[in-house]
Amino acid sequence: MNPLIEQLRAAVGPANVLVDGDLSGYEMDWRKRARGKALAVVRPASTQEVAAVVKLCAASGTPIVPQGGNTGMVVGSTPDDSGREVVLSLGRLNRIRGIDEGNLTMTVEAGCILQVLQEKAEAAGFLFPLSLAAEGSCTIGGNLGTNAGGTQVVRYGNTRELCLGLEVVTAQGEVWDGLSGLRKDNTGYDLRNLFIGSEGTLGIITAATMKLYPLPTATLTAWAAVPSMEAAVKFLGLAHRHRARGSPASR
Ligand SMILES: Cc1cc2nc3c(=O)[nH]c(=O)nc-3n(C[C@H](O)[C@H](O)[C@H](O)COP(=O)(O)OP(=O)(O)OC[C@H]3O[C@@H](n4cnc5c(N)ncnc54)[C@H](O)[C@@H]3O)c2cc1C
Repeated sequence: MNPLIEQLRAAVGPANVLVDGDLSGYEMDWRKRARGKALAVVRPASTQEVAAVVKLCAASGTPIVPQGGNTGMVVGSTPDDSGREVVLSLGRLNRIRGIDEGNLTMTVEAGCILQVLQEKAEAAGFLFPLSLAAEGSCTIGGNLGTNAGGTQVVRYGNTRELCLGLEVVTAQGEVWDGLSGLRKDNTGYDLRNLFIGSEGTLGIITAATMKLYPLPTATLTAWAAVPSMEAAVKFLGLAHRHRARGSPASR
């Protein structure tokens, strides 16, 4: 057996290094367009365990494929068929570290399911506006990795716009702590925005501080028939101009 497997078992516990049985949920993309073969599926439960796994893989030159909910559309979270790659599943890193009601933020681990975050935010009286049809399965780490848009992107922006800070395990296995909830942050290089959208190529996101918004007091749905694309764009501009003063996106 590859000695790396034993080292990974020591790092995250034998039960969290999967090498046998049906691993198709990790090795195949959900549209069944690609089926790979992983050396192992590793399921760390903390940032320190992620860092230990990355260090071991780096030392042995083993490629890593980070995986959240495996709902992506472009096979980015599926291993190839070489049997050399380790799938690093973030699913057990799923704690909500805190909700800051004064700062309107929540700090969450990468494996949190998006829908769970929406529900936790709402229970605390806030809106977490990221919403997409995969929300029952996708993770915030995957949303950040892909800079997902979703159904409210025009109003609230991509996942990038909803993120204030990140914690990342770099390719060397070091922990970069950029978990800041500061809105006016103009310090130095913007590493956070390099990691967002990089699909794990620069590092593995382990936690994030995300913006919350007040829950809308009312919503209104209108069906508007427009004669052309130009008219639709004009209509959108009109809607933006008439958005209630003080609404979240105007802040
Ligand atoms: C039904 C459906 C509807 C969708 N609707 C939208 C939509 O409206 N708008 C939109 O933009 N997208 C949409 N998507 C795609 C969407 O971006 C992804 O489903 C989601 O963001 C991926 O999250 P995931 O946890 O499943 O990540 P995965 O699929 O597991 O991974 C996606 C990529 O991110 C990387 N990754 C995963 N976790 C991490 C991490 N912690 N750190 C670094 N990299 C990581 C993976 O290696 C992979 O490259 C939709 C998908 C589905 C299935």
